[in-house]
Amino acid sequence: MRIDEETKRVFVRQSWLKDVLLCPERARLSYTKPEFKVTNDSAAIGTAVHAGIEAILTNTVPLVDGPIVSLAKFRQLESESPGINHTNINPDHWHGHVVALTNAWIQDIYPRVPSGGFCEKSFEVFTGESVNGYELWFEGTMDYLHPNGVWDWKTAARKYSLLEKQTQDVQASIYSFAANKMGVVKEKSIFNFGVMIRGSNATGQIVSVSRSKAHGDFVIKQAMSAVAYAFAMTNNTGVPTDERWLVNDQHYLCSQRWCSWWSVCKGAHISEPDNEIGENNG
Ligand code: SF4
Repeated sequence: MRIDEETKRVFVRQSWLKDVLLCPERARLSYTKPEFKVTNDSAAIGTAVHAGIEAILTNTVPLVDGPIVSLAKFRQLESESPGINHTNINPDHWHGHVVALTNAWIQDIYPRVPSGGFCEKSFEVFTGESVNGYELWFEGTMDYLHPNGVWDWKTAARKYSLLEKQTQDVQASIYSFAANKMGVVKEKSIFNFGVMIRGSNATGQIVSVSRSKAHGDFVIKQAMSAVAYAFAMTNNTGVPTDERWLVNDQHYLCSQRWCSWWSVCKGAHISEPDNEIGENNG
């Protein structure tokens, strides 16, 4: 969440909204302790693959050179401080995954991506609503914006669930709303996830969900509730204090491996032995 006092606007990104919905404390810590944020291997592979795809779609390189661009980007991320945090992917396989996933996109997804769209299209759109006297705006960057619908590239360990994405995805709702406000897509439109799945044989999956005015209306309500919460927790300044926000550990990302702030939150109390299943349990 970003506040512009001059224009009296509050800007929300889909990633911030998702973080607040998952664990408000995590959203606060990402603001107050950004130095703890480390790029993990899964995110770095995704960033590198994105670079290769963008180079292809902008005709910067021919199709066959996409994996080379991806790998160069990954090497750059590896060389930057503090490096890449190892989660559950064997580091010996990082480079192989980057190349294989880019090739999966070329083979399984690219042939179905319509030409003539905009790559890396950034946006700022007014939702038509206000919170505490501030206009609520959505902002972000679309991987690929086309009149037929918005596309987003994802790298993942397993296939996406169409039902889950259709019923709950915040990003699809915000981006489709924004694309309609920009006059590029109709109010009822399709949002496509181009998913590249890691594995011994990487493959591509296209998951297309529909979005309508109803989804736009609801995600604006969600964002209003999150912004109102953040305003209340910051005495209307938008700047988090040292007071903790709601601490929610009821999801799989709450772990030493997946939450950058584990050591200053749950990890300050709970360590691996505390999570071990005792002899009398089961
Ligand atoms: S450790 Fe868990 S509860 Fe704490 S900020 Fe991270 S996700 Fe939230």
